[in-house]
Amino acid sequence: MTTQRRSSWLDGEAALSRILSRQLGAAWEKAKPRVQRMGEQAANEGSTWAAQADRNPPKLVTHDRSGERIDEIDYHHSYRQLQQLGYGGGIVAASYDPALAPERGDAPKSLTFGLGYLFGQAEAGMYCPVCMTDGAAYLLQKFGTSELKERFLTRLGTSDMNRVFTGAMFLTEKQGGSDVGQITTTAKGGQGVPGEAVKLYGDKWFCSNVDADVIMILARPEGATAGTRGLGLYVLPRHLENGQRNAYRVNRIKDKLGERSFPSGEVTLEGATAYLLGGPGEGFQQMTVMLNLSRLYNAIASVAVMRRAVVESIAWAEERVAFGKKVIEHPLMAETLMDMASEQRLALNWAFRGVSLMDRLESGKATEEERRTLRMLTPLLKYVLGKLAVSLASEGVEALGGNGYIEDWPLARVLRDAQVLPIWEGTTNILVLDTFRALRKESGHEALFSELERGISESPGDLQPRLGQMFEELKTALTELVSDATGEHAWRDWTDRASFLWNVTTSFSKSLGYGTATDERAARRVFSKYARSTLLRKDRATAADVRAIAFT
Ligand SMILES: Cc1cc2nc3c(=O)[nH]c(=O)nc-3n(C[C@H](O)[C@H](O)[C@H](O)COP(=O)(O)OP(=O)(O)OC[C@H]3O[C@@H](n4cnc5c(N)ncnc54)[C@H](O)[C@@H]3O)c2cc1C
Repeated sequence: MTTQRRSSWLDGEAALSRILSRQLGAAWEKAKPRVQRMGEQAANEGSTWAAQADRNPPKLVTHDRSGERIDEIDYHHSYRQLQQLGYGGGIVAASYDPALAPERGDAPKSLTFGLGYLFGQAEAGMYCPVCMTDGAAYLLQKFGTSELKERFLTRLGTSDMNRVFTGAMFLTEKQGGSDVGQITTTAKGGQGVPGEAVKLYGDKWFCSNVDADVIMILARPEGATAGTRGLGLYVLPRHLENGQRNAYRVNRIKDKLGERSFPSGEVTLEGATAYLLGGPGEGFQQMTVMLNLSRLYNAIASVAVMRRAVVESIAWAEERVAFGKKVIEHPLMAETLMDMASEQRLALNWAFRGVSLMDRLESGKATEEERRTLRMLTPLLKYVLGKLAVSLASEGVEALGGNGYIEDWPLARVLRDAQVLPIWEGTTNILVLDTFRALRKESGHEALFSELERGISESPGDLQPRLGQMFEELKTALTELVSDATGEHAWRDWTDRASFLWNVTTSFSKSLGYGTATDERAARRVFSKYARSTLLRKDRATAADVRAIAFT
């Protein structure tokens, strides 16, 4: 069913190897066999398992044969294989497992996301539980007591399938997803001491990976203030220390548009035992720390979806003959594919710029400027790339013609799965609001502007006047927006312009390790496509150009 079979998706994308080699440094040689293996398996059996798991979604089994409530999930065996590939392949363990230290060097997130990117090209569904498992581990590492770490972190961060725990986030309630300040789930008991046990009561409305072993859950301690300030974050284990099922019910699992391979449940907490992570009232702040990681996961998944769309579209166009020649040889098709491949290349470069900043932050090497750059970049990456993933997946479906729309071919599923990317971990408007929060509270524009200044100075000379003019317009617009009481109406428009400049200029930047001939060509194309110039673009793409930009 997969049109394109490659020995490894790593070999098929030279740009990825360049990025990982640069970011991992000396550790790359040690990490390479693992990444290569992931690239091979994702391209071959991983893609088959993903298609099977999508067609055979999990089922909720509420009772056993004796009528006892069990709330277990019955998975198709293909999903178990995907778990083996994802967790066993080390996507999460790359950042935590001591055994993988030589492979990650100082760049744990580059290894995690290198593996995750390849996995996500096969299966954007189970990638979500993987993301939440990392999120749970990340939170425990930062805020957990030594007891909580010992009990949960060591098993969330392992690639040993006999021991591994998976994670989940139960945040959203019926009345509030974006607006988590509306959360009504209540935590009873406890004095607000980190690690202490409480009992949880209430309903959660979106609980993906609902049978996870370790769940991060937002709740409000009894009597705490309203809004986000009163919230606490708790660790909810699926099983109690005595091995019994914890006191919550899975009411049903949702019938989703895509991402069908894993279960998203609706849950009622009936006095479930959970442990306070950090202090009382710190829950919202901790959740935002976790969101920085999960938004990066989302951005990488988006680039992976785009890559799959590009690879499948090119493979098809290389074989399909229409009007006497391969469709890739037709000028308009070559241009279409060239645009897709160019946008994907820029997305890859930009997203891994974010990953490299996160590595610096996590290793304690980041300057204050780099911290603020990442703070600005994270919502923008998630915003722009989530939307672009849907757009490229849709273009890919069309590139395959009628077959693209048919579920026997992979891109129909890829498109269905992609639609979640702009929604979870913050919808588009919420990300715009977050961007402006970073601008106002942390002077994020200073970091953004110095990043753009550097990028523009490294851009080709003939483009610098236009890029410079757009940059000046951006700065002027921001000054106006800040003093305009109705400015919020224009925030999304401003965010679009800022992220467009940032995305394009990153790929021109040699000092960041980009700026190869293919990076430059891709960035020029994307720039001319969206810069709304009245001139028709001069770049003419051939089939050979498409292959060069996609695979070198
Ligand atoms: C497949 C899937 C799996 C999920 N899994 C999980 C999970 O495991 N755990 C979990 O906690 N959640 C999960 N979610 C929930 C998801 O995180 C929320 O749906 C998302 O955060 C949006 O919240 P909402 O649905 O309440 O939408 P709302 O907050 O009601 O938003 C509706 C619309 O209003 C817009 N909007 C809201 N506020 C503003 C504002 N101030 N200004 C401008 N526009 C605004 C939004 O952008 C959006 O377009 C999942 C969702 C999906 C689809």
